[in-house]
Parts: sequence; C-alpha cells; structure tokens
Amino acid sequence: MGRLQKILIPLLGLVLAFWFYSARENFKPEMLRGKRVIVTGASTGIGEQMAYHLARMGSHILVTARTEAKLQKVVQRCLELGAASARFVSGTMEDTAFAQHVVREAQTSLGGLDMLILNHVGASYFGFFDGDVEHVRKLLEINFLSYVAMATSALPMLKESEGSIVVVSSMAGKVGFPFTVPYSATKFALDGFFSSLRQEFSIQSINVSITLCILGFIDTERAVRAAAEVLRERPAPRDECALEILKGAALRRRELYYRYSSTRLPLLLRDCAAELLDYLVRSRYRLPAP
Ligand code: NAP
Repeated sequence: MGRLQKILIPLLGLVLAFWFYSARENFKPEMLRGKRVIVTGASTGIGEQMAYHLARMGSHILVTARTEAKLQKVVQRCLELGAASARFVSGTMEDTAFAQHVVREAQTSLGGLDMLILNHVGASYFGFFDGDVEHVRKLLEINFLSYVAMATSALPMLKESEGSIVVVSSMAGKVGFPFTVPYSATKFALDGFFSSLRQEFSIQSINVSITLCILGFIDTERAVRAAAEVLRERPAPRDECALEILKGAALRRRELYYRYSSTRLPLLLRDCAAELLDYLVRSRYRLPAP
C-alpha cells in the first residue's frame, strides 16, 4: 500500500498539472483587435513596445507620458503598424488631476475602455537609501497614487466592457531589493492595493480582471543605464516582455512573471527560505568590498 501511494500520488499530481495547463486558453492576437486600450509610460521602454504590439493587433490606442515629441512619434509608428486608431495625451502623473484627465480623454475619444495598462515609472536613484522622505512621497504619487486614481476613474467604463486593469510591477515589489528602496516601496504598495481590490471584485461579482506583472531586469535604456554595471544578470528583451504582458492581460491572468526563471522560481523560496532568497537577491549585485 505504501509503495502504491508513493507512485499514485505523484502520478495524480502530474495528471492534474497536465489537465490544468492543457485546459488553459491560448493567446490569439485577435483577442485585442478593436479593443480600446490606454498605455501609460508609452513614450519609451516597455510601454512603447506594448503600443507597437497593440498596433499590429489592430487595437485603438491612447498613449501617455510627459514628452510630447516622443509620443507623437509613437503614435505615428502605431498608425503605420496598423492600429485601428492612435492618439496621445501628454502630462505628468505627479498630478492626480492629469491621471483622471487621461481617462476622461478615453471616454470622449474612444467612447469607452477595454484595457487600462498602468506602466509609467518616475525617476529615482540607484544607491543606498539617502533619507530623503520627500522623494519617497513624490515617487509614491507617481508610481502608486496615479495608478489608483486612473483605475478608480476608469472603473465605470471597465465594468461596462468587462475589461482589464494591467499593473506593471517588479520583482522589487515582491521581495526586498537593495539600492532601490523608494522604488521598491511603491511597487509593494501596488501589490497591496490591486490584490485587495481583486478580492473585492470577486466578492462583488465585478468582471474586471487585474493582472499584476512581476518583471525581472529588462533591457530598457533607463534600467540598463542604472543597473547594467552592477547587476550580474543579462537583461531580457523589452519587446518580448511587452508581448508577454499583453498575452497575460488578454488571458486575464492574475499575475504574470517575466522571465519566469528569474522571477517566479526564486519567489518560491519566499515562504520557506526567506533568508536564502535575500541572499540570492544580494548575490545578483557586484558589490564593492566593504
Ligand atoms: P522607462 O523606459 O524609464 O519608461 C518610463 C515611462 O514612464 C516613460 O514613457 C516616461 O516618459 C514615463 N514617465 C516617467 N515619469 C513620468 C511622470 N512623472 N509622469 C508621466 N509619465 C512618466 O521604464 P521601463 O523600464 O520601460 O519600465 C516600465 C515599467 O516596467 C515600470 O513600471 C517599471 O517599474 C517596470 N519594470 C521595469 C524593469 C526594467 O528592468 N526595465 C524591471 C522591473 C519592472 P516621459 O519621461 O516622457 O514622461
């Protein structure tokens, strides 16, 4: 009996895992055709790449960031790539009123919204926490409060379309990271807010999905400039990252990990070997001798 159990239980596990994964819906680009999507932080980096993928899939795209000249080029490129429509609104997410204004613009120009992709990130420093509390407050406004404000304003439209909220976060929003203390704090806040909101949607039968994206090191200009010298790992490509986010969003996944091997797998240690995980995170950095 003991031997039978030893064989049967893992076998049952394998069968269940196969059934679970094979029963999952596959992504098709048509899922995003004609969808009305806002992408924030889309003048460069991962946001820009998401706008181009959405354009190829034939979505209606509204991009936003601060730099108007870059947004104009992104919109132009989106139209060339086949977007159903493309437009921009420029401004800063330091201002909650601007965050709400972007959502109103979607209402006016697109007549509704299917997907809200919250991706922008304010500038911060890479180094030991310098004690500047004012900087933490400002970063919370850009990286957290504006996300809350946009999601809140967009909710009536998203309820109507049974749409999606996509929150771009980081490994630094799941486990403590050195040298990015204020940034990390804002990403942890996103997890707390949006994972709790997801619970409430479930209780209230609100059919709006929330996908939290946990990203590792990606080869955007800002990230490479800040961390390539000190991080031991190679950054993953931003266009592939952007596509994975859109797939996860279209399939209404609760969380998306990219790349899986450098995010989801280490995080498995969090509950059973937290010290080991902390050590592994620290060992990713080339640190000067103390
Ligand atoms: P990025 O290249 O620096 O782009 C940031 C975007 O945010 C730009 O479009 C920027 O445009 C906009 N932005 C900055 N400050 C703003 C403000 N005050 N108001 C409005 N827009 C503002 O960033 P990324 O590397 O693509 O990162 C995208 C997302 O992925 C972020 O949420 C980031 O935390 C996450 N992530 C990235 C990495 C990575 O290694 N790259 C790793 C983990 C997570 P303007 O300057 O024109 O405003």
